[in-house]
Amino acid sequence: MPGEIYFDNNATTRVLPEVAEAMLPFYTEQYGNPSSIHGFGSQVGRRIAEARAQVAALIGAADSVEVIFTGSGTEGDNAAVRGMLEARPDKRHIVTTQVEHSAVLGLCQHLEKKGYRVTWLGVDESGALDLEELRAALSEDTALASIMWANNETGVIFPIEEIAAIARSKGIPLHVDAVQAAGKLPLKVNELPLDLLTISGHKFHAPKGIGALYVRRGITFPPFMIGGHQERNRRAGTENVAGIIGMGKAAEIAFDRMAEDASRIGKLRDLLETLLLESCPGSRVNGRGQNRLPNTANISFRYLEGESILVLLDQHGVCASTGSACTAGSSEPSHVLRAMKVPADWLQGAVRFSLSRFNTEEEIRYVNQLMPSVVQRLQGLSALGKLGNQQRSQPEPGVAAGTAGVRG
Ligand code: PLP
Repeated sequence: MPGEIYFDNNATTRVLPEVAEAMLPFYTEQYGNPSSIHGFGSQVGRRIAEARAQVAALIGAADSVEVIFTGSGTEGDNAAVRGMLEARPDKRHIVTTQVEHSAVLGLCQHLEKKGYRVTWLGVDESGALDLEELRAALSEDTALASIMWANNETGVIFPIEEIAAIARSKGIPLHVDAVQAAGKLPLKVNELPLDLLTISGHKFHAPKGIGALYVRRGITFPPFMIGGHQERNRRAGTENVAGIIGMGKAAEIAFDRMAEDASRIGKLRDLLETLLLESCPGSRVNGRGQNRLPNTANISFRYLEGESILVLLDQHGVCASTGSACTAGSSEPSHVLRAMKVPADWLQGAVRFSLSRFNTEEEIRYVNQLMPSVVQRLQGLSALGKLGNQQRSQPEPGVAAGTAGVRG
């Protein structure tokens, strides 16, 4: 197939042409500073207000003043956690999960070293949280809970409505990392008892370097960048105007097309999983059986290394990933799959295919044609593969063909 086949949309997405078009004048013509007194600058402020309303609509915020533009999802996550710790200085405990993105995970590990106590909630083999464990972890000393909406590696969706109700019943503020959920699921923050929520533009066809943090009205939340008066004194710094306009436009389009996209992309993802499980014996879907994002398939190829699979796929123009782009380059197996207790022989061979509205059935069928030869080639090369071929004649408990998500 000509050109690249891009199945790495959880890493980042293509900027929509309509989004790029909406942004361009803010570099070349309407380049004024929104804080200026003159009309040339201040008219830009009005466009930012429109974009803020578009983002508020995407997440279902009651009021656009609850939306603070940031420079990334990572910034939103950091600002939310650090902000709540600063607002509740007498509390020294954080509750989060073992499967968070490194933006929350790494920060909480850092805070642990600084003397905060962190409860790391585990997940079961399908990636689900134990809500009773969450309830038991929240205490008088808890400053906040930070729990993701949808997992970036497996697409597993946590039941945020129930999680938020538990946190609220204990009077604990909840931050939700919705970076992978925004644009893919209806979020409706105002109907949920959550307090803070992070999203990032480049995951839903806006450019990189622009994100937003939702802070519910009435929550005490200190400024996280100190300087000028931008973002109502909460995040100082001259605005990334074109990025904000682009994120607003992308939010509007995602909102309008969400149901249609989810249904079409979900069918393609299901087709990909069905075909690959059939054509590649010794493959399984991680997180199968759970409520998952419609665009994400995390497939393990037993005894193989995900990175080697990616290199061969790349030679044929197929872009996928082993997990989070932010942890690529580390030889450690995925912390998400480890938390799900994925057995050692399936752990290294995970490949994440994450789709967008630009993918086609033709691309899915092309990858499915390619994959068996990639797997066979690597099985031939890998010592683990050889071992696997020997062992395959003796089925292992729990991984026989027909077990949920597992074939071969
Ligand atoms: N949180 C999740 C769940 C993510 O998937 C990502 C990016 O992959 C981030 C946070 C960080 O977002 P950004 O790349 O905008 O910093």
